[in-house]
Amino acid sequence: MQLYNSLSRTKEEFIPNEAGKVSMYTCGPTVYHFAHIGNLRTYIMEDILDRYLRYLGYDVTRVMNITDVGHLTSDADTGEDKMLKGAKREKKTVMEIAQFYTEKFFEDCNALNIRRPEVVEPATSCIDEFIKVIESLLEKGYAYEAGGNIYFDTSKLKQYYVFHNFEEEDLEVGVREGVEADGNKRNKADFVLWFTKSKFDDQELKWNSPWGIGYPGWHIECSCISMKHLGERLDIHCGGIDNAFPHHTNEIAQSEALLGHKWCNYWFHVLHLNTNSGKMSKSKGEFLTVSLLTEKGFDPMVYRFFCLQSHYRKSLVFSWENMENAKVAYNKLIARIASLKEEGEIDPTVFEEQKAGFVKSLDNDLNTSLAVTAIYDVLKAKTNDATKRALLADFDRVLCLGLLEHAAKLNEEKNVEAAKAPVSDDPFVAEIEKLIEERKQAKAAKNYAEADRIRAYLLEKGVTLIDSKEGTTFRIEGKE
Ligand code: AMP
Ligand code: ZN
Repeated sequence: MQLYNSLSRTKEEFIPNEAGKVSMYTCGPTVYHFAHIGNLRTYIMEDILDRYLRYLGYDVTRVMNITDVGHLTSDADTGEDKMLKGAKREKKTVMEIAQFYTEKFFEDCNALNIRRPEVVEPATSCIDEFIKVIESLLEKGYAYEAGGNIYFDTSKLKQYYVFHNFEEEDLEVGVREGVEADGNKRNKADFVLWFTKSKFDDQELKWNSPWGIGYPGWHIECSCISMKHLGERLDIHCGGIDNAFPHHTNEIAQSEALLGHKWCNYWFHVLHLNTNSGKMSKSKGEFLTVSLLTEKGFDPMVYRFFCLQSHYRKSLVFSWENMENAKVAYNKLIARIASLKEEGEIDPTVFEEQKAGFVKSLDNDLNTSLAVTAIYDVLKAKTNDATKRALLADFDRVLCLGLLEHAAKLNEEKNVEAAKAPVSDDPFVAEIEKLIEERKQAKAAKNYAEADRIRAYLLEKGVTLIDSKEGTTFRIEGKE
């Protein structure tokens, strides 16, 4: 499979460290609020990568952290801990909101058919590991203590900016406009590994450390949690593109300084979901969630479908109009699938031909929009319905759009409707049958007045209802 690697900025043949096995690490959510559908775009596309590797036969082990401490509002070393901000907003403890939003995150993932990784590890359960790694970095001379905090010394590296070709003067990037520079840093790009001093002394979660009571920086979490479960050589590390700098850049700096060799081979970054006013973000106040989509009448599968229609390395613009178009297309697709019969024998030649087209699309840097087109190719193919259904089931192991399940549900709903609908062509008989059904429901709801009203109404029209154990039949006056 060809996969774009942010490190080399080219598409490369994917070759894992160990034949047949893939270790994959995903930056998990910062659980101070609901995930917005931008965050979930990243998790959907990572899910496709995960599922496609499994589809190809790899034994994938995937690890995700839950950021419940240390992620500051600036992504670098300034600002308040996002978790504390969330706790203050909701007048709860940090652990209460972490638990609540972690559960909500996985509920959203379930609704969107995003697989739960094998290992999900909250940062707060690995404090001892962080301390050990920071101690090692200090011993190796890659870290220093200043003003009570421990910093990573980026000047010790041959190359710090691994994802971009920054010039020396771009080292300013570590400090944002309007944010006071941290005078403790030896180099502007240095970053905090452990805080004991911060402008925010009301930090709720603090732990003992050899350097005093404090808390870890965000970047050290992911390096440690990844190495704890996936060892010294990682195949793929994923995240949204905003994570490339400074988060992933810092992860590489500290992990490789610790290990003394290359740590991760492939970096997979998903481009952003934007609104008309720019990148969707939680800090902008109002943001879009899965429950809001559902409230507005969009099945979460419509959102997954919408995401798969474009490539993960292109930014995607969200609008209600785009969602509406995706809904129409998804519903039409499901209706076409629902009309397929469960008949015939699978034709192996057609099956392999169609499957080859699907695999070719995803092999080319996970081209999901072409993979979606492959569904339509199946529907158009000159073959029987059994082959088509088998192919759709096969593709859906990766796409997970609920194709056959939603089609079955649609058929079930149609059957219920048909059962409710009058069976007779004669409009008078059809009306009687409809009223008998309504009377049955009124009785079931113990609305006997309504049941009696229907009986009386029919009697007036010369129709007598006859109740028996088998149900209700009728006799029309003057007719045999
Ligand atoms: P967070 O919960 O802020 O730590 O972010 C969780 C994931 O969502 C990270 O991988 C981010 O890079 C990613 N992300 C944040 N904003 C967006 C966006 N607008 N579109 C796509 N991914 C995003
Ligand atoms: Zn991370």
